[in-house]
Amino acid sequence: MNNKNNQKNKKEQKSNKALIGIIILLVILLIAGIVAIVIIENSDKKDENTLSYTELVEEINNKNVEKIDMTVGSTTAKVKLKDEEKEKTALIPNTEVFVEFVQQQKLTGQNDIELNQKPRSILVQIPSTLLSLLPTLIMVALFIMIFKLQGLGEKGKVYDETETNTKVTFKDVAGLDEEKAELVEIVDFLKKPEKYVKMGAKIPRGVLLYGKPGTGKTLIAKAIAGEANVPFISMSGSEFIEMFAGLGASRVRKLFEKARRLAPCIVFIDEIDAIGSRRTSNSGAETENNQTLNQLLVEMDGFSSEETVIVLAATNRPEMLDKALLRPGRFDRQITIPTPDLKGRLEILKIHAKDKRLSDNVNLESIAEDTAGYTGAELANILNESAIIATKNGHDEIENEDVEEAVKKVTVGLEKKERVVSEKDKKLTAYHEAGHAVVSRYLPTQANVKEVSIIPRGVAGGYTMYKTDEDKYYISKTEMKEKLIALLGGRAAEKLVLDDISTGASNDIEVATNIARDMVTKYGMSDKLGPIDFQGKEPYEIQMFGEDIGDKIGLEVKALIDEAYNRAQQLLIEHRDKLDTIAGILLKQEKINEKEFAEVFDGE
Ligand code: ADP
Ligand code: MG
Ligand code: ZN
Repeated sequence: MNNKNNQKNKKEQKSNKALIGIIILLVILLIAGIVAIVIIENSDKKDENTLSYTELVEEINNKNVEKIDMTVGSTTAKVKLKDEEKEKTALIPNTEVFVEFVQQQKLTGQNDIELNQKPRSILVQIPSTLLSLLPTLIMVALFIMIFKLQGLGEKGKVYDETETNTKVTFKDVAGLDEEKAELVEIVDFLKKPEKYVKMGAKIPRGVLLYGKPGTGKTLIAKAIAGEANVPFISMSGSEFIEMFAGLGASRVRKLFEKARRLAPCIVFIDEIDAIGSRRTSNSGAETENNQTLNQLLVEMDGFSSEETVIVLAATNRPEMLDKALLRPGRFDRQITIPTPDLKGRLEILKIHAKDKRLSDNVNLESIAEDTAGYTGAELANILNESAIIATKNGHDEIENEDVEEAVKKVTVGLEKKERVVSEKDKKLTAYHEAGHAVVSRYLPTQANVKEVSIIPRGVAGGYTMYKTDEDKYYISKTEMKEKLIALLGGRAAEKLVLDDISTGASNDIEVATNIARDMVTKYGMSDKLGPIDFQGKEPYEIQMFGEDIGDKIGLEVKALIDEAYNRAQQLLIEHRDKLDTIAGILLKQEKINEKEFAEVFDGE
């Protein structure tokens, strides 16, 4: 799941908790109120041990009363009669009148009653006080609820978390050597701004970090603050976007006020595309967005040269950003944070393996080789999953098998051994996966097969894993065409062997279609259409081309897919024996590893 959703969920959970708390409080108050009423009512009930007011007055007149215990405010009294052992309860409708009456009797010497007036007991006091406060409490609770629902309340306090002492340093950031080298300069600016000012240099204002989620943008920003030992103030772009106009802008203002107070410091704005996307239309949300963006631009322009506040921002959608953000004096430095290469992956794995108990048989190099294209966050996640799996498996240390299982869990989802698969489905899956594997075996550009399995995992009925052992920056047209063939090998095998096709290939087809479309419309790989980017950055650019071009794109995509599908079928017909052998092994043992797979093709 991505960070943004996580944060949102946490926030929602928080306000939900508050709501539930308020509701529980209300319920408790109600119950307390009802109990209090019941107690009072019950204590007023009449039984054989009760004297009515008239009876009591009569007894007093007969001088038969020894003692009366009363509680202030209560309508009952304990009465001890001279001729009876047990105390009786008497009902007194008007205590003031009654007390006056008794005192009169005592004063005039007609009676020697002992009259005790006790203050109200606390027990009686609380519920009735609560009862009288109930309406006020409900009003307050309602107010808080409304406040929370509108997303105001204490959020204004939470918005900027200052991590004055970020413990993170460049040591914690693996790989990214060139990027770090570039950022060392920023660290130096923060440490000794006078040095640069004296020389007449303008201190850079903003640095934009581009990169996929999980590549370590937040991490490296924290590391800069940690290296320079300055406060790190962070906020996410999505938090600026508010329901109420002007709030986003005022938050930006507050954020920078704080930064000025704490300077030298780092301000980190995550997901800056949420506020800094291009100003296009004039819809409500957009206008609000613009105000926030404008405020940000004003703040960045307003720094004086003595204030060492460096604004770092992160985004994974650089093309979305408003050009105004990139002007000199604003985010004029841009650093791309790439997904790690083999060496980088190994270093990241090493960093995250430090605090884990790894067995000697775990080979981090081989994991790094198998995880081309993975981000730092995913690699960290793999090692964490390994520790969880090792614990589940009752191992003393994390074994290699635990790590391999974790890699698969992160890539294809959890193994579902208990799911019952019918024999027919099993056969279909076996041939489908064998189809992928056999076809790729005969395609020179395609990676070697690492493992084929027909044990369901996540949503997939089975999977074919390839050994990706090199990092590629460019992919050739031949390679893309062969990728299409390998993707359609599953469907081709189903058709060839079972003369029927299934829904199991839908994901393959989706991926293949996307690749073919990109080949034609993005990479200019179609001879008929030429090297033109038909996808465009702006939606209206597409309209530059007529329907005629649209038809041609469709036909070209179809031609690529058809060609690949035919080629897959040809290959499978040609190597039908291998297809049957692999599918046979899969049906027998459900999985086939790299070595076993290669053995089938021995001597070729
Ligand atoms: P981003 O901000 O780019 O989405 P993060 O900086 O939040 O990514 O990275 C998430 C986590 O992934 C980090 O906390 C760290 O554990 C791990 N990670 C990512 N890149 C690296 C790296 N280069 N070195 C070490 N750990 C990394
Ligand atoms: Mg981040
Ligand atoms: Zn498939």
